[in-house]
Amino acid sequence: MPDLDGRRYCRVCQDFLPLTAFPRGQRRFTCQAHLWQRIGKRAQQKLSDKPRKKLLARMWMQLWKDQRVVGQTVVALKQADINTLLEAHLGSSSDKPKGGLTVLPRDPSVPVSSGNTVLVMKQARRELLAGYRQHEAGTYQSKLQQALSSLEHAQKPATRGHIEMEPTCSRL
Ligand SMILES: [Zn+2]
Repeated sequence: MPDLDGRRYCRVCQDFLPLTAFPRGQRRFTCQAHLWQRIGKRAQQKLSDKPRKKLLARMWMQLWKDQRVVGQTVVALKQADINTLLEAHLGSSSDKPKGGLTVLPRDPSVPVSSGNTVLVMKQARRELLAGYRQHEAGTYQSKLQQALSSLEHAQKPATRGHIEMEPTCSRL
C-alpha cells in the first residue's frame, strides 16, 4: 500500500496516519505507538517467565544436591522435565506454585530420571532425606507415601496429589 499525501496506513489503527507517526528506517505498516505496544508486551511476557525459570533452576539445584546425599551422582532430569511435573501438578490453573514443592526420587537407590521422580512438599523433603541418611531406606518409601498423600490433601480435590512422569526412553 503506497503512502498517500504523506500519510501511511497503520494496520493496528486501521487508519492513515502522518508519516511522522511511523518509525524511521524500514517501511512498516505499524505506527510507532503500536510498535512500542507490541514490543512492550513481548518484554512483559519474558519477564513473567523469569520467576518460573528461577524456580526451576532452584529445584534442579536442590535435587542435584540431594542426590549426593543419597549417594547418586547422575541427575538424568532436565529443568524442562521439572517444568512438566509442575505444569501437570498445577493443571491449567494459573495459580502460582505454592512455595514449597520439591522434586525427589521415587527410589533413591537408582538415579533420578523422568520415570523416577515425584513432587512432594518441601517440608517432607528434609525428613525423608534425613531418614535415608540414617540408613532407613525402607522407611523412605513409607514416609514418601505419607508425604504424597499429605500433598494430595493439600490440593484442590480436582487435582492429583502427586505426579509421576511417564518414562520416556529417549530421555533415559
Ligand atoms: Zn497504529
